[in-house]
Amino acid sequence: MGPPRPPNDATVATAAIAGAAACPLLLVEALGKAFETAEGVVTAVDGVSFAVAKGEIVSLIGPSGCGKSTVFNIIGGLTPASEGRVVIDGESVAGPHAAIGMVFQEESTLPWRTVVENIAFPLEIAGMRRGERLETAMEFVRLVGLAGFERRYPAELSGGMRQRVSIARALAFRPKILLMDEPFASLDEQTRLLLGDKVLEIQQDLAQTILLITHNITEAVQLSDRILVMSYRPGRIKRTVEIALPRPRTSEIVSSDAFGRYVAEVWGDLREEASRGMRQDERHAREEARR
Ligand code: ADP
Ligand code: MG
Repeated sequence: MGPPRPPNDATVATAAIAGAAACPLLLVEALGKAFETAEGVVTAVDGVSFAVAKGEIVSLIGPSGCGKSTVFNIIGGLTPASEGRVVIDGESVAGPHAAIGMVFQEESTLPWRTVVENIAFPLEIAGMRRGERLETAMEFVRLVGLAGFERRYPAELSGGMRQRVSIARALAFRPKILLMDEPFASLDEQTRLLLGDKVLEIQQDLAQTILLITHNITEAVQLSDRILVMSYRPGRIKRTVEIALPRPRTSEIVSSDAFGRYVAEVWGDLREEASRGMRQDERHAREEARR
């Protein structure tokens, strides 16, 4: 017998994946959330468990009302969970945490501050001195492609540019994980695809771990390593789809056959849930009308 042979690439890759699964950057365990409403208790999410490895982009996709924002708010510490826990880099978290950067669907830029001042804002709150925070903010202005616009006010920018400001502001804090809740929902399709390219570029530069929440299938397939499809009420993880498209990716990939197959696969699952959601909403509206 000779000396032990070095492991081949496949063995190394398998070990790396097992390692990532064993110590994920984000671990969500058996998350549940019930809301008390005037019409009784609504179970928004139930038994949601998943993990995100370092450097991974994972999307959580589901029809409107399935509990995506509830999961986002719980992970970000803005809403307490009814059940389960969130672990980041081995540490159980409840409440807002510097390890998590959040980008919201709604406009969240401060209209009275310039681009660079918006991005520097959380650093100011954290007590970073002026010179240093402006320097850091400028680094992220450049990263998101807004160089030349740093002295503009949000009202002077397009919606896509304002969302880039929000992304830069979340990243300037150097979070371990970036959480985004439908960040491009208010943008037109072309802007959305091109901003997706920007996110992919940034992710490459920073090896940023990202959890993206969306109802848009194209966006999820374009960006993700993995897509978690949620069911409608109660929100559960129905299925995981691994997106084995090559990286680095650009939006050119949208026209490929492989891309189309993934879109069809995800739509197959989502369609069922979205239809169920629509039927429930219609029933609800009829009952309301009768009252
Ligand atoms: P999504 O982001 O997938 O559209 P949400 O997480 O916003 O879904 O909502 C999931 C469900 O929980 C919905 O039925 C919604 O009405 C309900 N819900 C969300 N937040 C609250 C709240 N603060 N109080 C009562 N019900 C809520
Ligand atoms: Mg939502």
